[in-house]
Amino acid sequence: MTIDYDKLYLGGHWKSPAGRERIEVRSAATEELLGSVPEAAEADVDEAVAAARRALDDPAGWSRWQPAKRAEALERFAVALEKRAEETARRVTIQNGMPITLAHQFEGGFPPVLLRYFTGLVTGREQEETRPGMLGGSSRVIREPVGVVGAIVPWNVPQAISFLKLAPALAAGCTVVLKPAPETVLDAMLMSEAAAEAGLPEGVLGVVPGGRELGAYLVAHPGVDKVSFTGSTAAGRAIAETCGRLLRPVTLELGGKSAAIVLDDADLASTIESFFAATLLNNGQICWLGTRVLAPRARYGEVVDTITDLARSLKVGDPLADTTQVGPLVSSRQRDRVESYIAKGRGEGARLTAGGGRPAGLDRGWFVEPTVFADVDNGHTIAREEIFGPVLSVIPYSGEDEAIAIANASDYGLGGTVWTSDPGRGEAVARRVASGTIGINAYANDPTAPFGGVKSSGIGRELGPEGLHSYQVFKTIYLDTTRG
Ligand code: NAD
Repeated sequence: MTIDYDKLYLGGHWKSPAGRERIEVRSAATEELLGSVPEAAEADVDEAVAAARRALDDPAGWSRWQPAKRAEALERFAVALEKRAEETARRVTIQNGMPITLAHQFEGGFPPVLLRYFTGLVTGREQEETRPGMLGGSSRVIREPVGVVGAIVPWNVPQAISFLKLAPALAAGCTVVLKPAPETVLDAMLMSEAAAEAGLPEGVLGVVPGGRELGAYLVAHPGVDKVSFTGSTAAGRAIAETCGRLLRPVTLELGGKSAAIVLDDADLASTIESFFAATLLNNGQICWLGTRVLAPRARYGEVVDTITDLARSLKVGDPLADTTQVGPLVSSRQRDRVESYIAKGRGEGARLTAGGGRPAGLDRGWFVEPTVFADVDNGHTIAREEIFGPVLSVIPYSGEDEAIAIANASDYGLGGTVWTSDPGRGEAVARRVASGTIGINAYANDPTAPFGGVKSSGIGRELGPEGLHSYQVFKTIYLDTTRG
């Protein structure tokens, strides 16, 4: 049975769509039709943005509510999401191939955590302060919601990434129009059901399924005050150009080609699970993965063997099975892309030590074998461009300085890791890597700490108080206290 919707959640209500187009979703693992939803038309975006504007401008509306009252509504949203967590994880897995154990954690589990973290930030801290001034008076400094947010998200971790934006924006008092990616619209509809059940006030959240043209329409919409985007660097550049012209604030979380630096004292075998999570998680479809493995020449053969053994040992298959470590890629287009990079790797002279083809016995679904290239030069295409699949490039280096130079010789700067038996040494190396985030012997995005990139990996930060602040603007009211 397919999962089909005939209405869109626009500004707090389920409405019939303005157009007739539909988006069909296919299973990454079986290629079968999973379901369909109406594709939002520009008129639907207009309606969602207008409702978001009204909610924002209403003097008794969402943005003017006390943070604690918003927190109550968002707690209801969190509870409604928890009720659907199991099904959310399942829908994400069947759509994009994310192994189900990971989907439970990231997609079912993380959104309510994020809602509670950000409502805790706004209710636990004053959103304004009075500062005694230098000119006789004092200043009231207030953090106000930035306004109507246009949020555009990709398909790789669709729910968690949506809530990296929704949780701080809604907690701050913004209203949001969210455009999910066409590949993963079924989980977005389930999230809309949760919002409706929670009784979020009219206009606070609208969901407009559609492709890049609709995304571009939302970005440039006159009723939008801020844009928040996660996806490819190419799309991010186009969005930044529009926002530059409109002087519209924008947060961009884009691609990566992060380095996993294996130091000469690393005991990779003892941290192999963390190494897998930091380099190959979600079938290689995560922006912060360390897909360039930098290996010391002194232990080069051993590091290549360890990573090759890891790739060959991974259980590839049905993403709904608890034991699966690597599922299929999201689409045949994405598999074509990844396979074209594998061909480039071979063509540029890198040495294939694991994978490189399609797994035997999996004739349906968009599977690619976990693949390792050794003897990669940092100038090779596979070391420079984001592949977004289970493909690692091992690059040799001599000495820490060269490792850091190679790590930094990239257009990107999003994630990364250092593998070492000496955490102090690891931190010293991590401090020299040009990257927004980096881990020692593991990688994680903790909700309390800012996440984002430098260089072509993006602008701005999500998570942590910094993530909240990106949905707030400062307003100063000068108080003349010199006259009684
Ligand atoms: P994409 O960036 O084109 O799409 C991501 C989202 O942005 C989707 O919702 C899409 O509809 C929307 N979009 C695309 N162009 C837009 C525009 N000009 N204006 C407004 N919205 C726009 O990604 P893709 O084509 O699905 O994947 C291609 C490559 O992008 C992948 O192979 C991978 O390298 C990279 N990618 C990165 C991330 C990430 O988290 N950084 C996520 C997905 C894809």
